[in-house]
Amino acid sequence: MKSLINKAKTTHDLTRDEILSILKDDSINEYLFSVADKVRKEYIGDEVYLRALIEFSNICRCNCVYCGIRRDNENVKRFRLTKDEILSLANFAIQSGYKTIVLQSGEDSYFTAEMLAEIIKEIKKNDIAVTLSIGERSFEEYKLLKEAGADRFLLRIETTNPIVYKKMHPNMTLENRKRCLFDLKKLGYETGTGSLIGLPEQSVEDLADDILFYKELDADMIGIGPLIVHVDTPLKGQVDGDFILALKVMAITRLLLPNINIPATTAMETLVENGRLKALQSGANVVMPNVGLENAKKQYEIYPGKVSVDYETLKDDLKKIGRTISLKRGFRNDNKSFLE
Ligand code: SAH
Repeated sequence: MKSLINKAKTTHDLTRDEILSILKDDSINEYLFSVADKVRKEYIGDEVYLRALIEFSNICRCNCVYCGIRRDNENVKRFRLTKDEILSLANFAIQSGYKTIVLQSGEDSYFTAEMLAEIIKEIKKNDIAVTLSIGERSFEEYKLLKEAGADRFLLRIETTNPIVYKKMHPNMTLENRKRCLFDLKKLGYETGTGSLIGLPEQSVEDLADDILFYKELDADMIGIGPLIVHVDTPLKGQVDGDFILALKVMAITRLLLPNINIPATTAMETLVENGRLKALQSGANVVMPNVGLENAKKQYEIYPGKVSVDYETLKDDLKKIGRTISLKRGFRNDNKSFLE
């Protein structure tokens, strides 16, 4: 098994069966994490890219079964920030030293592409990258947002198993999700995707397929998070996703896509103490601190207990593991290139 991991370290290639055998063997976990850490160091170095996350609306027309801000959850207090509120948070992030702003929301059609374009243009007057995470839109809308200056887009595939996908996302299709991702790529966005680990009926085979899908898309960013069960959803009473399994999927992704940007996700830190640092030592190179207002943070409860961290605390934590905060905007092109 170790020689398989060593092979992936140099070739950045594994078959579905090989991925599966690594996922199924827990005796090599620490070795896998250490090799993913080496690959991260070789291609990206010790600088960590920070992305300031602004959650600007928790109003959502989707009804994703696991998500705390799903349409049918009546226990959420809904909010929507104004343009000025969003811009003032963005300014705060810029003053704090962030080089990327991530605008994330539920699928809130109140924010038309034109409105979002105005906000993006305003933020882009600064030397800063803008990432969107607003869900599924048409090619034309994505195009307008790109032309307004958006640099990147995050849209997790969540799972590539069509049956699980259908059960978890009422009235949505895996096909359209993929269409969105390939449209984003075509439009020149740095495109991010990823999976939820621990969805009901999801198998390790599915996770292997997810990883192969990241390759197929040539994703520029991959965010992997364990499912954290929210009591106000139909998943109430089910078990959370497995942190180690999530970490393994992330580490294998690092071996196969060595120069992409991979966050240590908030869900990892929420589920396990020091999960963020463990992830940063197992292939991750990005952290996305939430810079929103306290009220909004509470109300944007996609899962319970979501932790947050500020710039200075993070800086100290990173120092403890020999890492520093990058002053670059942190595009995939800022990392070492690799040729297949
Ligand atoms: N509406 C946007 C943003 C969704 S929130 C979009 O569709 O892309 C960002 C991510 O949170 C989702 O992609 C999902 O993977 C994750 N998430 C949602 N509910 C979760 C839960 N209960 N536990 C862990 N992660 C969750």
